[in-house]
Amino acid sequence: MLVEQMTWEEYRDEVSRRTIILPVGSLEQHGPHLPLNVDVVIPTRLAKMVCEELDAMVLPPIAYGYKAQGGGQLFPGTTSLDGTTLINLTLDILRETYRHGGRRFLVLNGHYENVAFVTEAVQLFLRNADGARVVILSWWDQVSDEMVDELFAEAGFPGWEMEHAAITETALMQYFAPDLVREDKIIDDQSERMPTYSIFPPPDDIIPKSGILYKATYASREKGEKLAKQVVGAIAQIARQELGP
Ligand code: ZN
Ligand code: MN
Repeated sequence: MLVEQMTWEEYRDEVSRRTIILPVGSLEQHGPHLPLNVDVVIPTRLAKMVCEELDAMVLPPIAYGYKAQGGGQLFPGTTSLDGTTLINLTLDILRETYRHGGRRFLVLNGHYENVAFVTEAVQLFLRNADGARVVILSWWDQVSDEMVDELFAEAGFPGWEMEHAAITETALMQYFAPDLVREDKIIDDQSERMPTYSIFPPPDDIIPKSGILYKATYASREKGEKLAKQVVGAIAQIARQELGP
């Protein structure tokens, strides 16, 4: 159900009857132990799992995202789009898929800073897309309170804005792509100060030198598996409810 692996005939026969999932991520630093494509791997793999629960197909992910806030741009490798670029890229993909008959879309976001720009793309898309329906969601917003309590029982929950390259992203990568995790480089870290405002250009003391914002050593493959299954169940339920079976 990966669109890039389908033939045009298979695509033609499926596109109008399936929910079409568009994963959106980033190329962004995720500490010394995780690759730059964490925000792509997680929503793409969750999308594949969702396909096992309902009739869906997965578009190739958008592998770049809007600029990382809080100092992420200071790290080598964090390669980000201007907002207009992300809007136009998302809009082009939605329009083209609509032209082929796609009507039910699920934008599955893996990078916090993308939300406003993806939303704008969907708003522009819907001006000329009769009969289309779109759900936009970020995976961390689908984590249940019970799962948060369980995952953070020992470490304590720092809030999602601190959960960068920390427990949940590390655990999900240990589950989805263990070969990409440098286990010997997993550490706990935290910001010395967390301003309640934005500073431009960002000073280099608002993010730990490691790029990890919280306690990554509390991650495990088992936590990642449990988390992935809970989130996939939640996303599948949302898709059924809002977009149909
Ligand atoms: Zn991330
Ligand atoms: Mn991110």
